[in-house]
Amino acid sequence: MKVAVISDIHSNLVALEAVLAAIGSVDAIWQLGDVVGYGPEPDAVVARLKEAGAIGVRGNHDAAVVGDLPTDSFNDDARAAVEWTRKRIRFETEAYLRALPEKLVLPDSTTARGELTLVHGSPRNPIWEYLTSTWAARENLGAFDSRWCLNGHTHVPLVLAQVGQSVKGLAVDAAIRIELGDSRAFLNPGSVGQPRDGDPSASYMLFDTDAYAASWQRVEYRIEDTQARMLELGLPPGLARRLTFGL
Ligand code: ZN
Repeated sequence: MKVAVISDIHSNLVALEAVLAAIGSVDAIWQLGDVVGYGPEPDAVVARLKEAGAIGVRGNHDAAVVGDLPTDSFNDDARAAVEWTRKRIRFETEAYLRALPEKLVLPDSTTARGELTLVHGSPRNPIWEYLTSTWAARENLGAFDSRWCLNGHTHVPLVLAQVGQSVKGLAVDAAIRIELGDSRAFLNPGSVGQPRDGDPSASYMLFDTDAYAASWQRVEYRIEDTQARMLELGLPPGLARRLTFGL
């Protein structure tokens, strides 16, 4: 089965459309949370995900928008965008976000090698923890049973794979393909709507569950269209500006 894995779309419809066009034909689309927040088109992004038949989990921004997570620990721009989104979204969008689970464990039949766990942050703290270190990854190996965990939240493409008793990190560049073998691993597709690895193009991952391989892709999109819309709608200018730099 060929799966497109996308994450951290953050209401960036222009980026999502570019990614969906580049993905082409796949058997499934899985999204890893933060569907909304930061960007200007929450309703249209949710409608597009529904149309594409995507399944997935909720992120901290999704939870905050529907009132399930306080925004005290969000920075000012993030909090402003959450409040902007909350006031603006349609009922169907809110219902969609509310229904997203924190964790999704896909059954054995999905892959030839057993279950897969989908979370936004980490298995032990699906909403909040950033998996940015081999230490954090090792701590999380006991918090899920499946071979692979797909996670987002950091907005940086990354593989953290178990090697013996330790975990090794591997930064992934565009178009790299990794054979996963028997290792347990955390796979992060990077962010569609607000990349933070210095490359402003939208990031996603193709996952081949038959060949046990994953590859990372980048897609350029019209960043200035998203930025113009954000400024027109009164979202914080800093959130628009950062899209230029992928930071
Ligand atoms: Zn995010």
